[in-house]
Amino acid sequence: MKRYITLLSGILLVCLLCVPAMAVLPDAERMDELGQRAAWTAMDQLKFSKGDPNVLVLTNAGRAIVDGQTTERAVSGITKVSGLQNGDNTLWQVNRANWKPLWFYFYDKKSGKALYLEPTEASYTQTQTELKTTPFYKTFSKAVVVTGDLDRMLADTEAGNATMKALGGEAFSLISISNAWAHGASYDLLSSVMLHNHFCPGVSSGYLLAKYVEQEMPITDETSYVVISCPMWCKDDIFPILWDLTPGKGGHYIFPLSEEDETELTEAYGTRPAGIFIRWDDAQKTGRALALGFQFDSTPWTGPSWGEKPMRTIEMVENTGNPEQYVTVMKEFEVNEQMLTDLKNPANNPYEVAGMLSKTRA
Ligand SMILES: [Zn+2]
Repeated sequence: MKRYITLLSGILLVCLLCVPAMAVLPDAERMDELGQRAAWTAMDQLKFSKGDPNVLVLTNAGRAIVDGQTTERAVSGITKVSGLQNGDNTLWQVNRANWKPLWFYFYDKKSGKALYLEPTEASYTQTQTELKTTPFYKTFSKAVVVTGDLDRMLADTEAGNATMKALGGEAFSLISISNAWAHGASYDLLSSVMLHNHFCPGVSSGYLLAKYVEQEMPITDETSYVVISCPMWCKDDIFPILWDLTPGKGGHYIFPLSEEDETELTEAYGTRPAGIFIRWDDAQKTGRALALGFQFDSTPWTGPSWGEKPMRTIEMVENTGNPEQYVTVMKEFEVNEQMLTDLKNPANNPYEVAGMLSKTRA
């Protein structure tokens, strides 16, 4: 029996020793290699050199899981070769569901050109030798150079349509983010947009509302913000990042609003209701509240439909220093502990609690 065990251990040991030689490429090395290959391909196709501040790379590497492998090391590979990195505001990891395919999108704001890449399925299973000896162009099942600059896309609708078609389901996200970045979207706004997964007037409105509140009710030692969002829209993805108000930790309460109540509030206050923002002093158990409305640009859009949201987003991004152009105070009031509880209570309409609807208006 003892001899049998010894023999078995011997066989196991031999197997273990053989494993490194037989194993396929370790995930981390593979992803690093894929990131490097994406960067080399982009530098070749878009003709930029290492660390070019005019180039942005967007990717879902780090979020995507492909063939059971995590993909974060692709980010290291990209940076090693291209010098593009998050600390320089030239690399951003966009949120996507983890089962979505891995992709890379390089955009050169000077030339207006962009390159979209998706690795082949085979590149996730090849051995190190196979992957390293594969020509770069065969590493990607999708490698397409497009006109990525929105102004050029709108000036040449055919080129614009071709871009939208080539980028498919990723088009709105990639065009909106890269163009807003090129027009100077700030780092904290981009951070929120990464969570949101695309750039749009809705998420931009959340940023303008936050900036307005910070301006009018700056945080002091004992205070924190409570957001009673009503109705919800894309704006709500700003507060988890800017103010660390997350669904898990609280501080951000989201309520729907009936069409009837929204119409009544819009008519009464001349703006679209966005929510009630409270600066709460937990030591004094008192707060100051601003019920805020948000006015989107409602001038008719005449260009191709894909251009409207990214274009309006750019206008808003360029105006983030002037939130008062969009934001209006509908009502300002003091909040005590009971009222705060009532405002947070999902059984209540917060505008009723605030006495802003005819049912409750004093
Ligand atoms: Zn949105």
